[in-house]
Amino acid sequence: MPGTLFIVATPIGNLKDVTFRAIEILKSVDLIACEDTRHTKKLLAHYGVNTPTTSYFEHNKVKKGEYLVRLLKEGRQIALVSDSGTPGISDPGYNIINLAIKNEIPVTVIPGPCAFVSALVASGLPTDSFVFHGFLSNKKAKRRRQLKGLEHEKRTIIFYESPHRILKTLTDILDILGDREIVIARELTKVFEETVRSSVSVVLEHFIKHPPRGEFILLIRGSPPC
Ligand code: SAM
Repeated sequence: MPGTLFIVATPIGNLKDVTFRAIEILKSVDLIACEDTRHTKKLLAHYGVNTPTTSYFEHNKVKKGEYLVRLLKEGRQIALVSDSGTPGISDPGYNIINLAIKNEIPVTVIPGPCAFVSALVASGLPTDSFVFHGFLSNKKAKRRRQLKGLEHEKRTIIFYESPHRILKTLTDILDILGDREIVIARELTKVFEETVRSSVSVVLEHFIKHPPRGEFILLIRGSPPC
């Protein structure tokens, strides 16, 4: 009998945002595959989880993914966690989940926090229909092409962004999508949590004066119907 790959959601900042079931599973499996073992050990120590950990991240995802699937085939139970939120959303989780499914390994999700879902519901922008784009490319030409492809998108558009790229991204958004309504969700569930609702030009001006810090999600109102 193969083991199960448990996809376990963990907090996006506040250590209390974890489910009872997530802790139960983390305690019961044979191995926890973490994006960054040092980062996840803070959560494990907080909840008294002593399960062995191993790293599974962007630069070892192919070889390590194959190794973990071999262990699953031998019957080991493995939990997959990422640095924050739900594994598989804008992190290497997708690769091992896909590989496990191809190898007919049972995959079970232990639901919990996901940064863009929290940001979307608090944004006030339409939630009935939206496009989650993850990270835009860090290459200017590709990023601009990606934005051009969203120019006529009517649904709420959601991006993840890092603080050192946000100015370039906002500049391209202003240029290509225009001066739309934008919501910036920063440091959700953490001490300096804030949600700013404004226009792209105002937010850009603000961040030019006050260098952005922390983790960000950008949510943009879709284009109005013609
Ligand atoms: N798997 C995660 C999830 O379920 O949301 C996302 C991982 S992705 C590598 C990390 C990005 O998520 C950050 O760059 C940021 O855009 C967003 N993010 C994660 N935690 C956040 C937080 N507390 N506040 C705002 N954005 C956050």
